[in-house]
Amino acid sequence: MIHSFDVLILGAGAAGLMCAAEAGQRGRRVAILERADRAGKKILVSGGGRCNFTNIYCRPDNFISANPHFAKSALARFTPSDFVALVEKHRIPYHEKTRGELFCDRSAGDIAEMLELECERAGVRTFVNSRIRDVRRSTEFVVRTELDEFHAPALVVATGGLSIPKIGATAFGYDLARQFGLKIRDTRPALAPLVLASTERNQYCDLAGVSTEVVVATGHQSFKGKMLITHRGLSGPAILQISSYWNKGEAIRVDIAPERDVTTAIRDANVRNMAAARSAFQGSLPKRFATRWLELHAPPDWTNQALAELERQAHEWTLAPADTEGYEKAEVTAGGVDTDELSSKTMESRKVRGLFFIGEVVDVTGHLGGHNFQWAWASGSAAGRAL
Ligand SMILES: Cc1cc2nc3c(=O)[nH]c(=O)nc-3n(C[C@H](O)[C@H](O)[C@H](O)COP(=O)(O)OP(=O)(O)OC[C@H]3O[C@@H](n4cnc5c(N)ncnc54)[C@H](O)[C@@H]3O)c2cc1C
Repeated sequence: MIHSFDVLILGAGAAGLMCAAEAGQRGRRVAILERADRAGKKILVSGGGRCNFTNIYCRPDNFISANPHFAKSALARFTPSDFVALVEKHRIPYHEKTRGELFCDRSAGDIAEMLELECERAGVRTFVNSRIRDVRRSTEFVVRTELDEFHAPALVVATGGLSIPKIGATAFGYDLARQFGLKIRDTRPALAPLVLASTERNQYCDLAGVSTEVVVATGHQSFKGKMLITHRGLSGPAILQISSYWNKGEAIRVDIAPERDVTTAIRDANVRNMAAARSAFQGSLPKRFATRWLELHAPPDWTNQALAELERQAHEWTLAPADTEGYEKAEVTAGGVDTDELSSKTMESRKVRGLFFIGEVVDVTGHLGGHNFQWAWASGSAAGRAL
């Protein structure tokens, strides 16, 4: 069967739904083709099931991209307050967790339902279980699925990144960009747990489940937050954040006692010895981690010089992770469609008129804390207004 629309959107995720609602409200006849059996699957699992749908402090410097200026225009024209207004219009209860992170009180399903309802009211048609066979462009775009053929003068690619293949992530968007001659920036897992090299894994990973507040750094970037020891390495918000900046082969530096001086108590002790050191470290760190770390960094003696070196090491514990846990566990995909190829105002390809890329498939990757959804809403809305 042949269907004719004004706009075809590939992918009913965060960006695709937002774009569809916006374009539909402006009177466009919109169809979304979704590979999965329902829309918004990733929204449902996001934020531990509560969807961290935006961050009220979202700024352009919360994003990684080969062109750090690219996201500015879309982010300025659809802000966290705009999304919050939509959430409030639908009477969805929410709360701020930490540092501006907004979560649903009930469940992520509220956000998915809200977007689906907005689409429905705007007359958008969603075709789930759509397996796309090929995409061609003649006078307009033609998308063939197993049973149908869809025609439209505008095609929006909102198929997301490679993270979590189990819930339907595919390389489709990147392949389509290449098919139309657009450049791709190398992709890599981001917001991903790190795997430690075998020596350090043997030294620390039996402490899996222990978590502590750290500042973790690589290159010129650093993040403060919780670090969690896992069965294979490190995770927790601070580690996920730094993973987006980490390159294989590089070291990370972990300050295990941020803004604290751990060795003062050893200096002040009646007797400077391992027992005094253990008590000092256990005073500022989780007990088992303090004991293990100290055993592995025991000073040669208890002179002021040795204690100064111990203090330095506690603030600059240097580790060389072997890898990230990969796309299986990464929250997002860094890299993607090169922003040089797109208009920052509309997300339309500069080379191919009528072809748009939005959301995670674009080389714009947010920090942890609601920024990735904010990019999906902002880029979806930018394209939706231009269609
Ligand atoms: C476990 C997890 C938790 C997360 N939690 C948060 C959070 O709390 N806050 C936050 O800001 N970000 C979070 N993220 C990141 C966020 O979910 C993504 O950045 C966001 O969903 C990207 O939106 P998108 O529309 O570009 O892609 P997606 O939401 O991934 O949507 C892409 C859609 O395209 C469909 N698709 C793929 N290939 C095809 C194809 N060939 N044909 C048709 N359809 C196709 C997919 O099935 C999917 O529905 C989380 C990610 C994960 C994995």
